[in-house]
Amino acid sequence: MPAKDFEMVFQAARLKSPPLVGLAKRHLESLRRRDFAAGAALIDGRWIEGDQRDVVVDPATGEVIAKVACCRAVDMNLAIDAAERSFAEWRGLLPERRGAILRSWASLMLAHLEELAVLVTSEQGKPLAEARYEIGYGAGFLQWFAAEGERAYGETIPSHKPGNVLQVRMQPVGVAAAITPWNFPVAMIARKAGAALAAGCPVIVKPAPETPLSALALARLAQEAGVPSGVFQVLVGNPIELSTPLLRDARVRALSFTGSTEVGRLLLEGAARTVKKVSLELGGHAPFIIFDDVDLDKAVKGAMAAKFATSGQDCLAANRIYVQRGVYSAFVEKFAAAITRLKVGHGLDSATEIGPMTKLSVADKCRAQINEAAAKGARVISAKQDEVFGQSFILPTLLSDVTDDMLIASEETFGPVAAVLPFDSEGEVLARANTSEMGLAAYVYTDSLRRALRVSENIEYGMVGINTASFTGPPIPFGGWKQSGLGREGSRHGIQEYMELKYVCFGDLVD
Ligand code: NAD
Repeated sequence: MPAKDFEMVFQAARLKSPPLVGLAKRHLESLRRRDFAAGAALIDGRWIEGDQRDVVVDPATGEVIAKVACCRAVDMNLAIDAAERSFAEWRGLLPERRGAILRSWASLMLAHLEELAVLVTSEQGKPLAEARYEIGYGAGFLQWFAAEGERAYGETIPSHKPGNVLQVRMQPVGVAAAITPWNFPVAMIARKAGAALAAGCPVIVKPAPETPLSALALARLAQEAGVPSGVFQVLVGNPIELSTPLLRDARVRALSFTGSTEVGRLLLEGAARTVKKVSLELGGHAPFIIFDDVDLDKAVKGAMAAKFATSGQDCLAANRIYVQRGVYSAFVEKFAAAITRLKVGHGLDSATEIGPMTKLSVADKCRAQINEAAAKGARVISAKQDEVFGQSFILPTLLSDVTDDMLIASEETFGPVAAVLPFDSEGEVLARANTSEMGLAAYVYTDSLRRALRVSENIEYGMVGINTASFTGPPIPFGGWKQSGLGREGSRHGIQEYMELKYVCFGDLVD
Protein backbone atom coordinates (compact mmCIF):
# COMPACT_ATOMS: atom_id res chain seq x y z
CA MET A 1 0.00 0.00 0.00
CA PRO A 2 1.63 3.30 -1.05
CA ALA A 3 2.47 5.81 1.66
CA LYS A 4 0.45 8.57 0.00
CA ASP A 5 -2.75 6.71 0.93
CA PHE A 6 -2.08 7.52 4.53
CA GLU A 7 -1.41 10.67 6.43
CA MET A 8 -0.45 11.74 9.91
CA VAL A 9 -3.37 13.25 11.74
CA PHE A 10 -2.11 14.20 15.16
CA GLN A 11 -4.44 16.98 16.10
CA ALA A 12 -4.69 18.60 19.48
CA ALA A 13 -8.46 18.86 19.27
CA ARG A 14 -11.31 17.67 21.45
CA LEU A 15 -13.06 14.43 20.68
CA LYS A 16 -15.58 15.07 17.97
CA SER A 17 -18.03 12.38 19.07
CA PRO A 18 -20.27 14.01 21.70
CA PRO A 19 -21.83 10.68 22.79
CA LEU A 20 -18.42 9.55 24.03
CA VAL A 21 -18.07 12.54 26.34
CA GLY A 22 -19.64 11.53 29.65
CA LEU A 23 -19.69 7.84 28.76
CA ALA A 24 -17.33 6.76 31.53
CA LYS A 25 -19.06 9.10 33.98
CA ARG A 26 -22.46 7.53 33.30
CA HIS A 27 -21.09 4.00 33.69
CA LEU A 28 -19.36 4.89 36.96
CA GLU A 29 -22.50 6.57 38.30
CA SER A 30 -24.35 3.31 37.90
CA LEU A 31 -21.54 1.38 39.64
CA ARG A 32 -21.50 3.90 42.46
CA ARG A 33 -25.22 3.37 43.03
CA ARG A 34 -24.37 -0.28 43.56
CA ASP A 35 -21.63 0.77 45.98
CA PHE A 36 -18.91 -0.60 43.71
CA ALA A 37 -16.85 2.42 42.66
CA ALA A 38 -15.83 3.66 46.10
CA GLY A 39 -13.27 6.43 46.57
CA ALA A 40 -12.09 5.69 50.10
CA ALA A 41 -8.82 4.06 51.12
CA LEU A 42 -8.80 0.73 53.00
CA ILE A 43 -6.63 0.90 56.13
CA ASP A 44 -6.84 -1.69 58.89
CA GLY A 45 -10.23 -2.91 57.68
CA ARG A 46 -11.78 0.57 57.68
CA TRP A 47 -12.71 2.75 54.72
CA ILE A 48 -11.10 6.19 55.13
CA GLU A 49 -12.52 9.12 53.16
CA GLY A 50 -9.54 11.44 53.89
CA ASP A 51 -9.50 15.24 54.19
CA GLN A 52 -8.15 15.71 50.70
CA ARG A 53 -9.37 14.15 47.48
CA ASP A 54 -7.49 13.23 44.30
CA VAL A 55 -9.29 13.31 40.98
CA VAL A 56 -9.51 10.46 38.50
CA VAL A 57 -9.95 11.36 34.82
CA ASP A 58 -11.24 9.52 31.79
CA PRO A 59 -8.08 9.51 29.65
CA ALA A 60 -10.12 9.54 26.44
CA THR A 61 -11.86 12.84 27.19
CA GLY A 62 -9.96 14.41 30.09
CA GLU A 63 -13.19 14.61 32.12
CA VAL A 64 -13.05 14.14 35.89
CA ILE A 65 -14.93 10.91 36.57
CA ALA A 66 -14.30 10.34 40.29
CA LYS A 67 -12.63 11.62 43.41
CA VAL A 68 -10.67 9.41 45.78
CA ALA A 69 -9.17 9.82 49.25
CA CYS A 70 -5.66 11.23 49.07
CA CYS A 71 -3.69 9.45 51.81
CA ARG A 72 -0.75 11.01 53.62
CA ALA A 73 2.44 9.60 55.15
CA VAL A 74 0.73 9.38 58.53
CA ASP A 75 -1.92 7.08 57.01
CA MET A 76 0.82 4.88 55.56
CA ASN A 77 2.40 4.58 59.01
CA LEU A 78 -0.96 3.42 60.38
CA ALA A 79 -1.22 0.90 57.57
CA ILE A 80 2.26 -0.49 58.34
CA ASP A 81 1.30 -0.80 62.04
CA ALA A 82 -1.89 -2.64 61.09
CA ALA A 83 -0.08 -4.94 58.67
CA GLU A 84 2.53 -5.82 61.28
CA ARG A 85 -0.22 -6.56 63.85
CA SER A 86 -2.03 -8.84 61.40
CA PHE A 87 1.07 -10.81 60.38
CA ALA A 88 1.17 -13.42 63.18
CA GLU A 89 -2.45 -14.47 62.70
CA TRP A 90 -2.26 -14.55 58.88
CA ARG A 91 0.95 -16.58 58.74
CA GLY A 92 -0.50 -18.87 61.41
CA LEU A 93 -3.44 -19.92 59.23
CA LEU A 94 -3.11 -23.23 57.47
CA PRO A 95 -2.05 -22.67 53.83
CA GLU A 96 -5.29 -24.31 52.68
CA ARG A 97 -7.30 -21.73 54.65
CA ARG A 98 -5.35 -18.87 53.05
CA GLY A 99 -5.85 -20.61 49.71
CA ALA A 100 -9.61 -20.83 50.28
CA ILE A 101 -9.76 -17.07 50.93
CA LEU A 102 -7.73 -16.36 47.78
CA ARG A 103 -10.00 -18.62 45.72
CA SER A 104 -13.07 -16.91 47.09
CA TRP A 105 -11.52 -13.52 46.19
CA ALA A 106 -10.89 -14.78 42.65
CA SER A 107 -14.48 -16.03 42.37
CA LEU A 108 -15.79 -12.63 43.45
CA MET A 109 -13.59 -10.97 40.82
CA LEU A 110 -15.08 -13.21 38.17
CA ALA A 111 -18.61 -12.67 39.49
CA HIS A 112 -18.02 -8.91 39.16
CA LEU A 113 -16.04 -9.16 35.94
CA GLU A 114 -18.17 -6.70 34.04
CA GLU A 115 -18.13 -3.99 36.73
CA LEU A 116 -14.37 -4.35 37.20
CA ALA A 117 -13.80 -4.19 33.45
CA VAL A 118 -15.83 -0.97 33.20
CA LEU A 119 -13.75 0.55 36.00
CA VAL A 120 -10.51 -0.43 34.27
CA THR A 121 -11.59 0.99 30.92
CA SER A 122 -12.98 4.17 32.47
CA GLU A 123 -9.77 5.12 34.25
CA GLN A 124 -7.14 3.35 32.12
CA GLY A 125 -8.69 3.72 28.67
CA LYS A 126 -8.09 0.22 27.24
CA PRO A 127 -10.80 -1.37 25.08
CA LEU A 128 -13.45 -3.12 27.17
CA ALA A 129 -12.64 -6.54 25.67
CA GLU A 130 -9.04 -6.18 26.88
CA ALA A 131 -10.23 -5.02 30.30
CA ARG A 132 -12.44 -8.13 30.57
CA TYR A 133 -9.45 -10.27 29.67
CA GLU A 134 -7.39 -8.53 32.35
CA ILE A 135 -9.88 -9.42 35.11
CA GLY A 136 -9.72 -13.12 34.22
CA TYR A 137 -5.92 -12.92 33.94
CA GLY A 138 -5.73 -11.26 37.39
CA ALA A 139 -8.12 -13.76 39.03
CA GLY A 140 -5.95 -16.54 37.57
CA PHE A 141 -2.99 -15.37 39.72
CA LEU A 142 -5.06 -15.60 42.90
CA GLN A 143 -6.11 -19.13 41.98
CA TRP A 144 -2.58 -20.12 41.01
CA PHE A 145 -1.01 -18.85 44.22
CA ALA A 146 -3.79 -20.34 46.37
CA ALA A 147 -2.38 -23.70 45.26
CA GLU A 148 1.30 -22.65 45.33
CA GLY A 149 0.93 -21.65 49.01
CA GLU A 150 -0.09 -25.24 49.72
CA ARG A 151 3.03 -26.50 47.94
CA ALA A 152 5.66 -24.16 49.40
CA TYR A 153 7.83 -27.14 50.27
CA GLY A 154 11.13 -27.05 52.06
CA GLU A 155 13.89 -29.66 51.68
CA THR A 156 15.70 -32.30 53.63
CA ILE A 157 19.38 -32.34 52.72
CA PRO A 158 21.40 -35.57 52.94
CA SER A 159 23.64 -34.78 55.87
CA HIS A 160 27.38 -34.19 55.51
CA LYS A 161 27.77 -34.79 59.29
CA PRO A 162 27.09 -38.10 61.06
CA GLY A 163 23.90 -38.21 63.12
CA ASN A 164 22.56 -34.88 61.88
CA VAL A 165 19.33 -34.01 60.10
CA LEU A 166 19.47 -30.98 57.84
CA GLN A 167 16.25 -29.17 56.98
CA VAL A 168 15.34 -26.18 54.86
CA ARG A 169 12.06 -24.44 55.65
CA MET A 170 10.30 -21.72 53.67
CA GLN A 171 8.76 -19.02 55.84
CA PRO A 172 6.93 -15.76 55.07
CA VAL A 173 9.23 -12.73 55.02
CA GLY A 174 6.84 -10.32 56.77
CA VAL A 175 4.95 -7.22 55.67
CA ALA A 176 5.13 -6.67 51.90
CA ALA A 177 4.57 -3.49 49.90
CA ALA A 178 3.39 -3.40 46.28
CA ILE A 179 3.75 -0.29 44.10
CA THR A 180 1.75 -0.93 40.96
CA PRO A 181 1.36 0.68 37.51
CA TRP A 182 -1.59 1.98 35.53
CA ASN A 183 -1.33 -0.23 32.43
CA PHE A 184 -2.69 -3.37 34.16
CA PRO A 185 -4.37 -1.83 37.21
CA VAL A 186 -6.02 -5.08 38.35
CA ALA A 187 -3.71 -7.86 37.19
CA MET A 188 -0.49 -6.36 38.58
CA ILE A 189 -2.06 -6.09 42.03
CA ALA A 190 -3.43 -9.64 41.86
CA ARG A 191 -0.07 -11.02 40.68
CA LYS A 192 1.81 -9.44 43.60
CA ALA A 193 -0.83 -9.77 46.32
CA GLY A 194 -1.70 -13.36 45.37
CA ALA A 195 1.91 -14.46 45.87
CA ALA A 196 2.44 -12.45 49.07
CA LEU A 197 -0.81 -13.51 50.72
CA ALA A 198 -0.31 -17.17 49.81
CA ALA A 199 3.16 -17.02 51.36
CA GLY A 200 1.63 -15.69 54.58
CA CYS A 201 2.58 -12.01 54.21
CA PRO A 202 0.22 -9.03 54.67
CA VAL A 203 0.38 -6.60 51.69
CA ILE A 204 0.05 -2.84 51.42
CA VAL A 205 -0.74 -1.65 47.90
CA LYS A 206 0.05 1.79 46.54
CA PRO A 207 -1.62 1.85 43.12
CA ALA A 208 -0.82 4.34 40.37
CA PRO A 209 -2.67 7.64 40.97
CA GLU A 210 -4.17 7.37 37.46
CA THR A 211 -5.99 4.09 38.22
CA PRO A 212 -7.04 3.92 41.88
CA LEU A 213 -10.66 2.83 41.35
CA SER A 214 -9.78 -0.67 40.17
CA ALA A 215 -7.45 -1.13 43.17
CA LEU A 216 -10.11 0.03 45.62
CA ALA A 217 -12.71 -2.26 44.03
CA LEU A 218 -10.29 -5.17 44.46
CA ALA A 219 -9.92 -4.22 48.13
CA ARG A 220 -13.72 -4.25 48.54
CA LEU A 221 -13.86 -7.76 47.09
CA ALA A 222 -10.90 -8.91 49.22
CA GLN A 223 -12.80 -7.81 52.32
CA GLU A 224 -15.91 -9.63 51.13
CA ALA A 225 -13.82 -12.76 50.51
CA GLY A 226 -12.70 -12.76 54.14
CA VAL A 227 -9.19 -11.29 53.93
CA PRO A 228 -8.73 -10.09 57.55
CA SER A 229 -8.20 -6.43 58.56
CA GLY A 230 -4.66 -5.20 57.95
CA VAL A 231 -3.78 -8.12 55.67
CA PHE A 232 -4.68 -6.34 52.40
CA GLN A 233 -4.69 -2.52 52.42
CA VAL A 234 -4.86 0.05 49.62
CA LEU A 235 -3.69 3.66 49.96
CA VAL A 236 -3.89 6.18 47.13
CA GLY A 237 -1.87 9.39 47.12
CA ASN A 238 1.37 11.09 46.21
CA PRO A 239 3.88 8.38 45.19
CA ILE A 240 6.88 9.86 46.98
CA GLU A 241 5.00 10.73 50.16
CA LEU A 242 3.50 7.24 50.40
CA SER A 243 6.56 5.26 49.35
CA THR A 244 8.93 7.03 51.78
CA PRO A 245 7.50 5.37 54.93
CA LEU A 246 7.39 2.03 53.11
CA LEU A 247 11.09 2.33 52.25
CA ARG A 248 12.22 3.65 55.63
CA ASP A 249 10.30 1.27 57.88
CA ALA A 250 12.33 -1.86 58.62
CA ARG A 251 9.11 -3.76 59.36
CA VAL A 252 8.34 -3.69 55.63
CA ARG A 253 10.46 -6.66 54.61
CA ALA A 254 9.61 -6.98 50.91
CA LEU A 255 8.93 -4.49 48.15
CA SER A 256 7.55 -5.37 44.75
CA PHE A 257 7.36 -2.73 42.02
CA THR A 258 6.18 -2.63 38.41
CA GLY A 259 6.84 0.51 36.40
CA SER A 260 9.62 2.50 34.82
CA THR A 261 13.30 1.59 35.18
CA GLU A 262 14.02 5.11 36.54
CA VAL A 263 11.62 4.73 39.46
CA GLY A 264 12.74 1.11 39.97
CA ARG A 265 16.32 2.32 40.49
CA LEU A 266 15.16 4.92 43.04
CA LEU A 267 13.18 2.33 44.97
CA LEU A 268 16.09 -0.13 44.93
CA GLU A 269 18.34 2.56 46.38
CA GLY A 270 15.73 3.51 48.97
CA ALA A 271 15.16 -0.11 50.00
CA ALA A 272 18.90 -0.64 50.51
CA ARG A 273 18.81 1.25 53.80
CA THR A 274 16.69 -1.43 55.45
CA VAL A 275 17.93 -4.25 53.17
CA LYS A 276 14.51 -5.33 51.94
CA LYS A 277 13.81 -8.17 49.57
CA VAL A 278 13.13 -6.28 46.33
CA SER A 279 11.47 -7.51 43.16
CA LEU A 280 11.29 -5.19 40.19
CA GLU A 281 9.40 -5.57 36.92
CA LEU A 282 10.65 -2.63 34.88
CA GLY A 283 10.73 -1.37 31.33
CA GLY A 284 11.12 -3.43 28.20
CA HIS A 285 12.29 -2.87 24.65
CA ALA A 286 11.32 -6.11 22.98
CA PRO A 287 12.95 -7.14 19.72
CA PHE A 288 10.55 -8.94 17.37
CA ILE A 289 12.67 -10.82 14.82
CA ILE A 290 11.17 -12.08 11.57
CA PHE A 291 13.34 -14.42 9.47
CA ASP A 292 12.69 -14.83 5.75
CA ASP A 293 11.56 -18.47 6.07
CA VAL A 294 8.25 -17.73 7.82
CA ASP A 295 4.68 -17.38 6.67
CA LEU A 296 4.40 -13.58 6.56
CA ASP A 297 0.70 -13.55 7.44
CA LYS A 298 1.49 -15.33 10.70
CA ALA A 299 4.32 -12.89 11.38
CA VAL A 300 2.02 -9.91 10.74
CA LYS A 301 -0.62 -11.35 13.07
CA GLY A 302 2.02 -11.86 15.76
CA ALA A 303 3.50 -8.39 15.30
CA MET A 304 0.03 -6.81 15.52
CA ALA A 305 -0.64 -8.58 18.82
CA ALA A 306 2.83 -7.91 20.24
CA LYS A 307 2.71 -4.22 19.31
CA PHE A 308 -0.89 -3.08 19.73
CA ALA A 309 -2.26 -4.95 22.77
CA THR A 310 -3.12 -2.45 25.53
CA SER A 311 -2.72 0.20 22.80
CA GLY A 312 1.02 -0.42 22.99
CA GLN A 313 1.21 0.43 26.71
CA ASP A 314 2.73 -2.86 27.67
CA CYS A 315 6.21 -3.74 28.90
CA LEU A 316 6.10 -6.76 26.56
CA ALA A 317 5.34 -4.57 23.53
CA ALA A 318 7.47 -5.12 20.43
CA ASN A 319 9.66 -2.02 20.21
CA ARG A 320 12.01 -3.05 17.41
CA ILE A 321 10.56 -5.19 14.63
CA TYR A 322 13.56 -6.58 12.74
CA VAL A 323 12.65 -8.05 9.34
CA GLN A 324 15.09 -9.98 7.17
CA ARG A 325 15.79 -8.06 3.98
CA GLY A 326 14.33 -10.60 1.53
CA VAL A 327 10.81 -10.23 2.96
CA TYR A 328 11.14 -6.67 4.26
CA SER A 329 9.03 -4.81 1.66
CA ALA A 330 6.33 -7.45 1.57
CA PHE A 331 6.10 -7.42 5.37
CA VAL A 332 5.90 -3.62 5.57
CA GLU A 333 3.07 -3.58 3.02
CA LYS A 334 1.00 -6.24 4.83
CA PHE A 335 1.73 -4.75 8.26
CA ALA A 336 0.75 -1.23 7.11
CA ALA A 337 -2.53 -2.57 5.75
CA ALA A 338 -3.34 -4.27 9.07
CA ILE A 339 -2.38 -1.20 11.11
CA THR A 340 -4.61 1.12 9.15
CA ARG A 341 -7.60 -1.14 9.76
CA LEU A 342 -7.33 -0.68 13.55
CA LYS A 343 -10.31 1.16 15.02
CA VAL A 344 -9.40 3.99 17.36
CA GLY A 345 -11.86 5.32 19.94
CA HIS A 346 -13.19 5.34 23.46
CA GLY A 347 -12.55 2.05 25.22
CA LEU A 348 -16.20 1.76 26.21
CA ASP A 349 -17.22 1.78 22.54
CA SER A 350 -17.38 -1.93 21.66
CA ALA A 351 -15.78 -1.40 18.22
CA THR A 352 -12.61 0.16 19.68
CA GLU A 353 -9.28 -1.64 19.33
CA ILE A 354 -6.95 1.23 20.22
CA GLY A 355 -7.82 3.53 23.13
CA PRO A 356 -6.16 6.67 24.48
CA MET A 357 -2.80 6.80 26.22
CA THR A 358 -3.50 6.72 29.96
CA LYS A 359 -0.93 9.47 30.57
CA LEU A 360 -0.41 12.49 28.33
CA SER A 361 3.33 12.19 28.97
CA VAL A 362 3.30 8.82 27.19
CA ALA A 363 1.42 10.30 24.20
CA ASP A 364 3.99 13.13 24.10
CA LYS A 365 6.83 10.59 24.15
CA CYS A 366 5.26 8.77 21.17
CA ARG A 367 4.95 12.01 19.19
CA ALA A 368 8.54 12.95 19.99
CA GLN A 369 9.79 9.54 18.79
CA ILE A 370 7.77 9.79 15.56
CA ASN A 371 8.99 13.31 14.81
CA GLU A 372 12.61 12.47 15.54
CA ALA A 373 12.50 9.33 13.38
CA ALA A 374 10.81 11.23 10.53
CA ALA A 375 13.45 13.97 10.72
CA LYS A 376 16.17 11.31 10.44
CA GLY A 377 14.57 9.70 7.37
CA ALA A 378 12.08 7.07 8.59
CA ARG A 379 8.96 6.60 6.49
CA VAL A 380 5.82 7.44 8.54
CA ILE A 381 2.56 5.72 7.79
CA SER A 382 -0.43 6.47 10.04
CA ALA A 383 -4.04 5.43 9.93
CA LYS A 384 -6.44 7.94 8.45
CA GLN A 385 -9.55 8.30 10.62
CA ASP A 386 -12.81 10.16 10.08
CA GLU A 387 -12.93 11.39 13.65
CA VAL A 388 -10.48 13.82 15.19
CA PHE A 389 -9.14 12.69 18.52
CA GLY A 390 -7.84 14.49 21.59
CA GLN A 391 -4.22 14.83 22.64
CA SER A 392 -4.19 11.59 24.60
CA PHE A 393 -4.69 9.59 21.41
CA ILE A 394 -1.91 8.35 19.17
CA LEU A 395 -3.14 6.95 15.90
CA PRO A 396 -1.58 3.57 15.14
CA THR A 397 1.58 4.41 13.25
CA LEU A 398 4.18 2.48 11.31
CA LEU A 399 7.73 3.80 11.09
CA SER A 400 9.66 1.90 8.45
CA ASP A 401 13.36 2.12 7.53
CA VAL A 402 14.16 2.86 11.16
CA THR A 403 17.88 2.96 11.94
CA ASP A 404 19.68 2.13 15.18
CA ASP A 405 20.50 5.80 15.90
CA MET A 406 16.82 6.80 16.15
CA LEU A 407 15.30 7.30 19.62
CA ILE A 408 12.66 4.62 19.09
CA ALA A 409 15.40 2.04 18.52
CA SER A 410 16.62 2.41 22.10
CA GLU A 411 13.95 4.21 24.19
CA GLU A 412 10.78 2.37 25.29
CA THR A 413 7.79 3.71 23.33
CA PHE A 414 4.81 2.46 25.35
CA GLY A 415 2.32 3.45 22.66
CA PRO A 416 0.91 2.28 19.30
CA VAL A 417 3.95 3.17 17.20
CA ALA A 418 5.64 0.30 15.38
CA ALA A 419 9.28 0.61 14.34
CA VAL A 420 10.44 -1.70 11.54
CA LEU A 421 14.14 -2.21 10.79
CA PRO A 422 15.71 -4.37 8.06
CA PHE A 423 18.49 -6.89 8.82
CA ASP A 424 20.63 -9.29 6.78
CA SER A 425 21.98 -12.14 8.92
CA GLU A 426 21.20 -14.05 12.11
CA GLY A 427 24.46 -13.00 13.80
CA GLU A 428 23.84 -9.34 12.97
CA VAL A 429 20.26 -9.29 14.28
CA LEU A 430 21.21 -11.11 17.50
CA ALA A 431 23.95 -8.59 18.19
CA ARG A 432 21.57 -5.69 17.53
CA ALA A 433 18.80 -7.23 19.66
CA ASN A 434 21.23 -7.73 22.55
CA THR A 435 22.61 -4.16 22.56
CA SER A 436 19.64 -3.00 24.62
CA GLU A 437 20.07 -2.54 28.37
CA MET A 438 16.51 -3.87 28.63
CA GLY A 439 16.04 -7.62 28.71
CA LEU A 440 12.38 -8.41 29.33
CA ALA A 441 10.73 -10.12 26.34
CA ALA A 442 11.85 -11.08 22.84
CA TYR A 443 9.95 -12.64 19.93
CA VAL A 444 11.41 -14.78 17.15
CA TYR A 445 9.56 -15.91 14.02
CA THR A 446 11.27 -18.67 12.03
CA ASP A 447 10.41 -22.04 10.55
CA SER A 448 13.84 -23.49 11.33
CA LEU A 449 14.04 -25.46 14.58
CA ARG A 450 17.83 -25.21 14.64
CA ARG A 451 17.69 -21.46 14.31
CA ALA A 452 14.94 -21.18 16.95
CA LEU A 453 17.09 -23.16 19.38
CA ARG A 454 20.22 -21.13 18.60
CA VAL A 455 18.56 -17.74 18.84
CA SER A 456 16.59 -18.57 22.00
CA GLU A 457 19.86 -19.76 23.60
CA ASN A 458 21.82 -16.63 22.73
CA ILE A 459 19.27 -13.85 23.10
CA GLU A 460 19.64 -11.94 26.39
CA TYR A 461 16.03 -11.68 27.50
CA GLY A 462 14.06 -13.20 30.37
CA MET A 463 11.12 -14.37 28.22
CA VAL A 464 11.25 -15.53 24.60
CA GLY A 465 8.27 -16.29 22.36
CA ILE A 466 9.06 -18.50 19.34
CA ASN A 467 6.40 -18.08 16.64
CA THR A 468 3.97 -16.69 19.21
CA ALA A 469 3.15 -13.31 20.64
CA SER A 470 1.10 -14.69 23.50
CA PHE A 471 2.96 -16.45 26.28
CA THR A 472 2.03 -14.91 29.62
CA GLY A 473 -0.18 -16.39 32.32
CA PRO A 474 0.02 -17.54 35.94
CA PRO A 475 2.28 -20.61 35.35
CA ILE A 476 5.15 -18.73 33.67
CA PRO A 477 8.08 -16.96 35.39
CA PHE A 478 7.50 -13.36 34.36
CA GLY A 479 10.55 -11.12 34.62
CA GLY A 480 13.53 -9.62 32.90
CA TRP A 481 17.29 -9.66 32.59
CA LYS A 482 19.62 -6.67 32.85
CA GLN A 483 17.88 -3.37 33.66
CA SER A 484 14.41 -4.84 33.08
CA GLY A 485 14.27 -5.98 36.65
CA LEU A 486 14.95 -8.38 39.49
CA GLY A 487 13.07 -11.48 40.56
CA ARG A 488 10.11 -13.25 38.98
CA GLU A 489 6.34 -13.02 39.26
CA GLY A 490 3.83 -15.81 38.70
CA SER A 491 4.91 -19.46 38.39
CA ARG A 492 6.33 -21.53 41.25
CA HIS A 493 9.15 -18.96 41.51
CA GLY A 494 6.87 -15.98 42.25
CA ILE A 495 6.02 -16.99 45.80
CA GLN A 496 9.76 -17.08 46.70
CA GLU A 497 9.88 -13.26 46.49
CA TYR A 498 7.85 -13.23 49.71
CA MET A 499 9.56 -16.08 51.55
CA GLU A 500 12.75 -16.51 53.54
CA LEU A 501 14.67 -19.73 53.49
CA LYS A 502 15.61 -21.11 56.90
CA TYR A 503 18.23 -23.82 57.36
CA VAL A 504 17.86 -25.92 60.51
CA CYS A 505 20.46 -28.46 61.60
CA PHE A 506 19.38 -31.13 64.11
CA GLY A 507 22.66 -32.31 65.59
CA ASP A 508 23.75 -35.01 67.95
CA LEU A 509 20.97 -37.51 67.11
CA VAL A 510 23.26 -40.51 67.67
CA ASP A 511 23.22 -41.90 71.25
P1 NAD B 1 6.25 5.21 36.88
O1 NAD B 1 7.35 4.26 37.07
O2 NAD B 1 6.45 6.64 37.25
O3 NAD B 1 4.94 4.71 37.69
C1 NAD B 1 4.70 3.40 38.15
C2 NAD B 1 4.32 3.43 39.63
O4 NAD B 1 5.36 4.03 40.38
C3 NAD B 1 3.08 4.23 39.97
O5 NAD B 1 2.39 3.62 41.04
C4 NAD B 1 3.66 5.56 40.43
O6 NAD B 1 2.76 6.28 41.26
C5 NAD B 1 4.86 5.09 41.19
N1 NAD B 1 5.92 6.09 41.35
C6 NAD B 1 6.29 7.05 40.47
N2 NAD B 1 7.32 7.77 40.97
C7 NAD B 1 7.61 7.23 42.18
C8 NAD B 1 8.57 7.54 43.17
N3 NAD B 1 9.46 8.51 43.02
N4 NAD B 1 8.58 6.80 44.29
C9 NAD B 1 7.70 5.79 44.46
N5 NAD B 1 6.76 5.47 43.56
C10 NAD B 1 6.72 6.17 42.43
O7 NAD B 1 5.82 5.13 35.40
P2 NAD B 1 5.08 6.28 34.55
O8 NAD B 1 5.72 7.63 34.67
O9 NAD B 1 3.67 6.24 34.95
O10 NAD B 1 5.32 5.75 33.09
C11 NAD B 1 6.54 6.11 32.46
C12 NAD B 1 7.12 4.98 31.69
O11 NAD B 1 7.34 3.86 32.57
C13 NAD B 1 6.21 4.42 30.62
O12 NAD B 1 6.25 5.19 29.46
C14 NAD B 1 6.80 3.05 30.45
O13 NAD B 1 7.94 3.15 29.64
C15 NAD B 1 7.20 2.66 31.85
N6 NAD B 1 6.17 1.81 32.52
C16 NAD B 1 6.38 0.48 32.52
C17 NAD B 1 5.43 -0.35 33.09
C18 NAD B 1 5.63 -1.83 33.10
O14 NAD B 1 4.67 -2.57 32.96
N7 NAD B 1 6.86 -2.30 33.30
C19 NAD B 1 4.27 0.16 33.66
C20 NAD B 1 4.10 1.56 33.67
C21 NAD B 1 5.06 2.35 33.08
